[in-house]
Amino acid sequence: MPHVITQPCCSDASCVYACPVNCIHPTPDEPGFATAEMLYIDPSTCVDCGACITACPVGAISPGHRIPDTQERFTQVNADYYGADPDPEGPRFPVDSLWRKPLAPVDKPRALDGVPDPLQIAIVGSGPSAMYAADELLKHRQVRVTMFERLSEPFGLARFGVAPDHPATRSVVDLFNVIAQDPYLQILLNTEVGRDVTLEQLRQEYHAVLWAGGAPTDRPLEITGVDLPGVQSATTVVGWYNGHPDFVDAVPLLDTERAVVIGNGNVALDVARILTADPDRLATTNIDAAALAHLRGSSIREIVVVGRRGAEHGAFTLPELIGLADGPAHVWVDPADLVDAPETEKTTLLREISQRPKPAEPYLRLAFGLTPERILGEERATGVRFQRTGTQETVELQAGAVFTAIGYRGRPVPGLPFDDARGTIANVAGRITADQQPIPGLYVTGWVKRGPNGFIGTNKTDSAEAVRGLLADAEAGLLARAGV
Ligand SMILES: Cc1cc2nc3c(=O)[nH]c(=O)nc-3n(C[C@H](O)[C@H](O)[C@H](O)COP(=O)(O)OP(=O)(O)OC[C@H]3O[C@@H](n4cnc5c(N)ncnc54)[C@H](O)[C@@H]3O)c2cc1C
Ligand code: SF4
Ligand code: SF4
Repeated sequence: MPHVITQPCCSDASCVYACPVNCIHPTPDEPGFATAEMLYIDPSTCVDCGACITACPVGAISPGHRIPDTQERFTQVNADYYGADPDPEGPRFPVDSLWRKPLAPVDKPRALDGVPDPLQIAIVGSGPSAMYAADELLKHRQVRVTMFERLSEPFGLARFGVAPDHPATRSVVDLFNVIAQDPYLQILLNTEVGRDVTLEQLRQEYHAVLWAGGAPTDRPLEITGVDLPGVQSATTVVGWYNGHPDFVDAVPLLDTERAVVIGNGNVALDVARILTADPDRLATTNIDAAALAHLRGSSIREIVVVGRRGAEHGAFTLPELIGLADGPAHVWVDPADLVDAPETEKTTLLREISQRPKPAEPYLRLAFGLTPERILGEERATGVRFQRTGTQETVELQAGAVFTAIGYRGRPVPGLPFDDARGTIANVAGRITADQQPIPGLYVTGWVKRGPNGFIGTNKTDSAEAVRGLLADAEAGLLARAGV
């Protein structure tokens, strides 16, 4: 049986380059790559060589005959992408003609012409975009990289964002640890640019500065009552259960039978899943110990994850929904919420969930078509008033805890031009710009370059683009250290 890509896929495309028959798509140079929820193996051309398994940093690929029950649906999901039969009986792609198949393009490392030797690069941040950029830069003999990270641990949201019950995705830090071993990469922890060292100092001492500081701010929910005790952002809860030093005090109020999560993207699902998970199962993960102790005392019986639009527009990805439906989580959907929903891959699965018996408490419930109007309560949150989207009907949900998860946004960085509309540092393909003109020596990558979207692996393509611009400028003689 052909190989299958499953839920932990973070779209870094390593498998694309490893595959000898080019049967994994979309590739980074295909139009659908930036918005793909994962990558897919074409079952009719996969020759079962297994090369992609070794290449995948998060263990997302299984041989078809060893796929676990909880991931069985992915056989169909991969095949559907190609409109193919998931288990074809017909002849496979003939191995003796493999060499004729065009391979996905790979940027081959090349010698740099006419650049300073060594070429000193400062990278701000050590999250996925920073690590992929360093990896790309260090393919070149002349390059030396110094990375500045404000926290005492590296790897950004790969360490402090990804949910602790997703260990396969977390294992991408093993790859980053390998990159970090490069003798020409130095990572300075506990060093915040703007506090411990200034951007101007970096510009003096390095040929180029690559900003990879992420997009750490929540998009605010602007309704009455959001400042009440009991209301907090998903970012703070995620930081709290992952032991992020900025959020040790962001202890959620769990002395309530119902909580509401406003927003239904993957982060909203993470929060609801962790807060309803069996603490004994969480104890086998690396969830923060104090958070686990607090969760053991939780009174929550139901967490309602609320989306503004209909079920067919759920912001969560299909792979995440499959993980929720077939994994250990207790999840439920009220059939009444799906009456008018058109048939899509997501609503088909949601209907299946809605036909199941109501799960044991605590469980999470997905609700749709509700626009938040105000948080109810005087001293603390007691509920949320919604309007049924597109109608005048009001719906109130009693809840002593409310978590907002409506997305992220980059923060302006003093000294760097900011594109307020996009919430990113102003840039063209990773070159930071002022009035549309690139500023040689200043580059940006990751969430604060393209906006807070995509997966961990999406940053690889993004960083490759920024590094291409940086190295082209170096070869054009545009990079000089002001202080040397
Ligand atoms: C809650 C959550 C869960 C997620 N789960 C998944 C998942 O399961 N799978 C998946 O594929 N993707 C997931 N993502 C998306 C993924 O984490 C991002 O795509 C990725 O982390 C973005 O990388 P980045 O390098 O741009 O930013 P970040 O990961 O945020 O890294 C930025 C780094 O810069 C540091 N920094 C910032 N400012 C400074 C400064 N001035 N000086 C020094 N250091 C600084 C920060 O401390 C941080 O370490 C998740 C995102 C979130 C928010
Ligand atoms: S098993 Fe081999 S042929 Fe199949 S997708 Fe993986 S690398 Fe490609
Ligand atoms: S995580 Fe990367 S290597 Fe693994 S399946 Fe997804 S795209 Fe391929």
